[in-house]
Formats: sequence, structure tokens, C-alpha cells
Amino acid sequence: MSDHIFPQLEIPETLAAGPGPGNTDARVLARFAAAGVADHMHGDVLRGMVECKHMLRQVWGTDNVHTFGVAGTGWSALDMMFSAIKPGDKVVAFTNGTFSGIDALTIRIKAATAEELAANSLDPQTASVTVIDVPHGTSVDAQVIEDALAKHKPKWAAMAHWETGSGRINDVQAFSDACERHGVMGLIDAVSSLGVGDFRIDDLPGIVGWASCPQKGICCLPLTYAPVSFTDAFIAELKAGGAYTYANHPIFEARHWGIVDGADVEKGTYHRTHSGYAVAAFHEALRLTLEESVAKRAKSYGRHEAVLREAVEAMGCEVTSNMTSLVVLNLPGDLAGREMELVQHCRAQNFGIWPTLSAPVQVRIGILNQLNNAAIMDIIARFAKAIQDLGGTISQDKIDDVLHRHYGVAIAAE
Ligand SMILES: *Cc1c(COP(=O)(O)O)cnc(C)c1O
Repeated sequence: MSDHIFPQLEIPETLAAGPGPGNTDARVLARFAAAGVADHMHGDVLRGMVECKHMLRQVWGTDNVHTFGVAGTGWSALDMMFSAIKPGDKVVAFTNGTFSGIDALTIRIKAATAEELAANSLDPQTASVTVIDVPHGTSVDAQVIEDALAKHKPKWAAMAHWETGSGRINDVQAFSDACERHGVMGLIDAVSSLGVGDFRIDDLPGIVGWASCPQKGICCLPLTYAPVSFTDAFIAELKAGGAYTYANHPIFEARHWGIVDGADVEKGTYHRTHSGYAVAAFHEALRLTLEESVAKRAKSYGRHEAVLREAVEAMGCEVTSNMTSLVVLNLPGDLAGREMELVQHCRAQNFGIWPTLSAPVQVRIGILNQLNNAAIMDIIARFAKAIQDLGGTISQDKIDDVLHRHYGVAIAAE
């Protein structure tokens, strides 16, 4: 053991232009830094949490009482949601990329019998879980969902709303309808759709559990709260069967947000030591979303994603995604196979784009919280430069044409 104090940690400013985290909004960071030192039971901290709960219901579009934030990241919220699944429960999980794949792993862990878990604890082969694997680059559609639920008649079904690994939107309406038709309780990973897409939980009654994250559409990376929402039916099921967790227990965690015995109360009661800084940041992030409105932000994402998509297509890339916060693309033929090199080249210049995390290797460029013409043009210019740096050729005229058509301007030629 060496006895050494490291210099203060400096982290450079980067442009987070990947699938997530998005660039945290300056307003959110300002509230984080401005919060006073106050304990987790201070009146204003508790009031802030109750206000967040009410704002979250608007962001999710729901009257579900059990709507609140789970301390942590998207996986914390997903772990809480999946904690209702018990060993031996029959589950159908749809996968079409990295994240729904990890969701399915979580489900196999929760539903495994003790013997199944002991046989392969990090990757249990759980007999009661059926994983329907839809190929990377395609969406989970109505037919696949209907066929699987009709055939297996599970207790639970799970799907990612937007699969960030492959950039595909799955059919959440068909999922909800099929769950209703077959008496299945639907669980949705909405980590990358909340605050980006325009949807309302209460329009999708077949889905009983929803889990999201702070760092994507909610623009709040300072490790804060991962939004969740559960229907009364989910909570009743959970209460009857229990869950093998304390910190991440939906009923216990809800108490600190002023939800006790299925009803709103004026003030939360202790569950764990929440941070006033985190509450202040999360509160501002929700205000920011509601001030503009989810519907307007969703439109704005759609508009700007179309520009980025057409611009990279004008550079010869092939886009295989249909999410509005992200384009997932194959490089032009002469650069095929050099995706990792290109991503690393961009990252070395603090331009944070991403490769896919599971095969096939593709490039992912995101626009989370970059909803203005200048920011999108900056991303396009940096990406065009990177392609040229690797020896690719681009036609500036074609890119300018896209920018002219959409924004009425062009990137000045270098
Ligand atoms: C990002 C993401 C996750 C994981 O979220 P963390 O905040 O990294 O824990 C899970 N599911 C989907 C669909 C995601 O996009």
C-alpha cells in the first residue's frame, strides 16, 4: 500500500453525444451546487421530494400513486421493478439489443430457483423464463408479441420500450394490448424513452411497471433518481408475494416520497439518507422538462434527429435505427471495420460518441439535450471531420444541402 494523496481530480468538458448520458443541463448542475447542507429529513428536502413526485406523474402521464424516483441509475429502477418477479414465475422477455439482453439476464436471476442459480449464478438458465430474441437492428413488433404471449401465457412479460443498444423503438401499444388480452402483467424498460418520446402511461393499461433513469431524457446525470411508476395491481401483487430487497423495495422506497399504504401523505418518512443536492438537481430537471412539455421536447428530438440522420446519410453512412435521440449507423464501405478506431478518435477530442456494445459493431451518435440547430451542426461538423481524418471522403455540398433544407444555413467550409 503506498501512502499518497492524488492531485485534485480534473474532468474535462466533453460533448456527450452518445446514447447516454446526455449533457446534463447547466440549470440542473447549478441547482445541485447551490443546495445548502441539509439533512434528509429537512422540511424543504422532503417538500422537494413530494413536489418531484407530483411532477414525475405529469412527465410519465399517470395517476399511479406509486410514482417516484429510485436512488441510483437506470439499473436501480429496473432492479426494483423486476424485484416483483419470484423464483419459478413464468416470464416472457423480448430482447433486441444490449439493454433488453441485460433486462432478460436480470429476469433470469430473479426467476431462477435456488438450484438454477447455484448451477450458474452469473448466467442462470431459468426454465420458467422464455427469451424471445429479435435480431439486432429490428424492432419487437405486434405479431412477435402476440404469438409469444398467446403461446406461453406467462405471468409477466418484459420489453424495452426503446432499445438503446440497436437504436430501435419497440411496439409498446401492441405490448400493452397483448398483455391485456392474455391477462399478463407487462413490465417496460423505459430508460431511454422517458422525456424523449411522447407517450402516457395511463394510455397503456396492460403495463403495470415502468422503470427509467436520470441521465438520458431527464438530463440529470448528477447521480440522482431513476423514475419508476407502478399500478395498484403491481403493488398488490408485490405486497402479496413480497420482494427479496430492502433498499430497492418499491413499497419501502416510496415512503420517503410521501407514499404510505397506497396513498399520498404530506411528508415522507425515513427510508434511506437522501441528499438535498440530488433532490434539488432532480427537481430542476423535472421543471425543465415540464416547462417545455414532454410533447414539445419529443417533437424537437424528432426534428433534429432527422437532420443528423440525413447529414450522416449524405456522408455515405447507412442508418439502421429509428429512435429520435440517437442514430445508429454503418460507416461508408471504404471505412467499414474501422468503427472502433473512429469512435476512439472522436473521444480523444472530447467528442463522446459510442460504438454498439454488442455485435454487430456500429457507431452511435446521440443528441440528448442538444435540441438546437447550433448543437446539431456542431455534432455533424465534428463527425464529418472525423471521417476525413480517417481518410474517408465526404461531399460538403451534400451536407450543406441537408442543413439548408432544414435549418436554412450551412457549416462554413474549412
Ligand atoms: C441506458 C439504459 C439502461 C441502463 O441505465 P443506467 O443508467 O446505465 O443504469 C437500461 N436500459 C436501457 C434501455 C438503457 O438505454
